[in-house]
Formats: sequence, structure tokens, C-alpha cells
Amino acid sequence: MSEALGAANDLALIDKNDAFVFGYSKLDLMFGRERPEAVRLPYRDFAKPGVRFLRETITAIDPVARRVTTDAGVYEADILIVALGADYDLDATPGLAQAGNEFYSVAGAERLAEVLPTFTRGRAIVGVCGAPFKCPPAPSEAALLLHDYLSERGVRDDCEISLVMPFGTPVPPSPDTSAALLAAFGERGIEFVAGHRVSSLDPARKIAVLDDGAELPYDLFLGVPKHRAPDVVLESEMAEDGYVPVDSRTLETKFPKVYAVGDVATVGVPKAGVFSEGAARVVAASLVAQLQGGERPAAYDGRGACYVEFGAGRVGRVDVDFLSGPKPTGTFQAPSSDLVAEKQHFGASRRARWFDR
Ligand SMILES: Cc1cc2nc3c(=O)[nH]c(=O)nc-3n(C[C@H](O)[C@H](O)[C@H](O)COP(=O)(O)OP(=O)(O)OC[C@H]3O[C@@H](n4cnc5c(N)ncnc54)[C@H](O)[C@@H]3O)c2cc1C
Repeated sequence: MSEALGAANDLALIDKNDAFVFGYSKLDLMFGRERPEAVRLPYRDFAKPGVRFLRETITAIDPVARRVTTDAGVYEADILIVALGADYDLDATPGLAQAGNEFYSVAGAERLAEVLPTFTRGRAIVGVCGAPFKCPPAPSEAALLLHDYLSERGVRDDCEISLVMPFGTPVPPSPDTSAALLAAFGERGIEFVAGHRVSSLDPARKIAVLDDGAELPYDLFLGVPKHRAPDVVLESEMAEDGYVPVDSRTLETKFPKVYAVGDVATVGVPKAGVFSEGAARVVAASLVAQLQGGERPAAYDGRGACYVEFGAGRVGRVDVDFLSGPKPTGTFQAPSSDLVAEKQHFGASRRARWFDR
């Protein structure tokens, strides 16, 4: 909106955090491939005409009045866009907070960077505790990168790796991506436990209990916690079945002039940054058209490209299309070093556009 309208905007961007971090940077942090300072993009560097950044915590949202209350004030808006993401509910999985290590938050990934060097033998489980969860390929990536990490340290033969996932295949919309991941697991001796989630951990016995009661012993548990919308959203009138329903073509909620984009919304696409970005583009184009009287943009198509870390210095790519056909489809590009460079360009282009870096 800033690019289109410049200083004519009167747009407040409210976030309680002082920096943005790409989701995939959490994998880089946990395996010590990047330092925290290198992946943090501080909002103080976010300088866009017509946009004020307010580092405040939102405590209430009234979608009827389009009023947002924060720890610092009350804001009335002509148009409200809710983009508060998904939070983690560690308490939904008994034992996870005490005994497991989650790698889905920056703090969790940073803690793991300290824990992983101490793991030299035994069984590691990468375990998903609930669906939907962000970036469906990420647990598979974590398992493959863990294999590399342990191999480089010369302890892989003393360790086992299992991946527990609530889906039948690693990336259900793309059978080719799933087949390539299953082949990579097979080559590396990674066990894939399909169709189950981890429902609790027993820290005393070092056992992960699955949703069917099966027990898996572990020495290291790397968890994907159950997700849920932030409390402030659940406490508003917007949430239904845990998230904010929207018209997937326009991202409009049922409240006039209130939109929801990204992980907080139920759009019919996975929870991933590329989909948040695509949905945000449609909302921004639609608002610019409304304000300037131009043509409305085409409906949101639910398309996105995800880069998938395969380990061994290679990245694959899956292009998925969730909304334009009768069922989701995906096209796979085999892992290569060219795609490593493409993923780097993906990050660099966003850093440049969003943070002028
Ligand atoms: C390990 C991992 C790997 C991933 N890899 C990829 C990938 O390769 N590609 C990809 O596309 N996606 C990936 N993702 C997913 C991606 O990070 C998320 O889907 C994306 O960040 C969602 O964007 P969002 O804007 O909806 O929410 P978020 O990025 O979570 O932003 C929500 C913002 O709301 C703020 N907020 C929340 N509550 C409040 C409040 N009460 N007051 C004020 N501010 C608040 C938060 O501080 C946050 O900045 C990955 C995620 C993980 C965990």
C-alpha cells in the first residue's frame, strides 16, 4: 500500500515484537547455521511512506467498531486487517513444556542450538503434536538436517531418527515431493511414522505417546507444538473453530471492512509465509483499487512456492495451487544447488523490499 499510495496512506502497523524473522530461519538457528543477530530484521529499519510502526501489544479487537485496544492506546480504523499469526499451545501436549524441545519459535530454536551439541547417542524424534501446523514440509526438513548435523559430528551411527506426522505422506498435495522425501528418509535411515500425532510425553520414562496410545522411547524430542490463534483473536467475536473464517477469494471476514490474512485466517491454504504474502497482496491491491477507484484485483488463487531443505547442501521446490482447481495440486522440482541460490534470492528480495536491506 505504501508503494502504491505513498504518504497519502494513513496506515498503522502494530506488532508487539521488535523484529521479523523468516520461519525457515528457525531451522538455521537450531542447527547453528546462523546466529540470532543475522536473522533478525528489526522493525526500526522499516521505514515506508504513510506507514507508522507501533510496537504495542494488542489486548482487544472489536471487529464491529473496527477498534483495536493495545497496552498503549485505543485505535479506531476505517479498515482493519488482522494478521496476528498462530500461537503455540504447549499445554495441549502434556509433558512437552518440561521434557521436549520445540523448534517452532525463535526462543525454542535458540535453546536447541545449545541442546543439540550434547546429543551424541540414542533416539531422536521429530514429532508433530497437532494439525494444522505451519509450513508442512518443516518437520521433514528438520529430520533431514538433523541427519546431516549428526553425520558431520561423526555420531550418526549411534543415533536413530524418527519423524511422527499426522499426514499419510510428508506433503499430501504433492505426491512427487512426498515420494522424494520418503526416498531421502529411506536412504538416510530415517523412520517415517505416518498418520499420527504425539499426544503427550512422559518425561520420567522418556516416552512419547501417540494418539493411538502407541509408545515411542526417545532421548531427544524435537516438537512441533499444537497451534492456535492468539488469545486476543479467540476472545474477539471473529474466531470460529479456532481461527478467523474469510472469503478465500477476497480475504474479507463477515465484518464489513475487516480482513484477515495469514496463519490467523481459515483460507483453505496451508499456514505458510508465501500464502500470507499472496493473500496480503490481494488485500492491498483491493484497498488501493477502492481508494483510487481502479479495477479490483482477481480473486486470491492460493498459489505458492515452498523451498524444501533436503540436506546435503540441496534444496527442492514445490509449487502448490490450493484454490484454482477442484483439488490442491503440486509440482515438484528435484533438490539442487541452483535451488539453494534461488531460496537465498527469495529471502534477499523480501529483505530488500520490506526492510530496504
Ligand atoms: C520452522 C519453520 C519453518 C518455516 N518455513 C517456511 C518456509 O520455508 N516458507 C514459508 O512460506 N513459510 C514457512 N514457515 C511458516 C511461516 O513462518 C508462517 O506461516 C508465517 O510467518 C505466517 O505469517 P503471518 O504474518 O500470518 O504470521 P506471523 O509471521 O506469525 O506474524 C504475526 C505477528 O503478529 C504479532 N502478534 C501476535 N499477537 C500479537 C498481539 N497480541 N499484539 C501485537 N502483535 C501481535 C507477532 O508478534 C507477529 O509478528 C515456517 C515456519 C516455521 C516455524
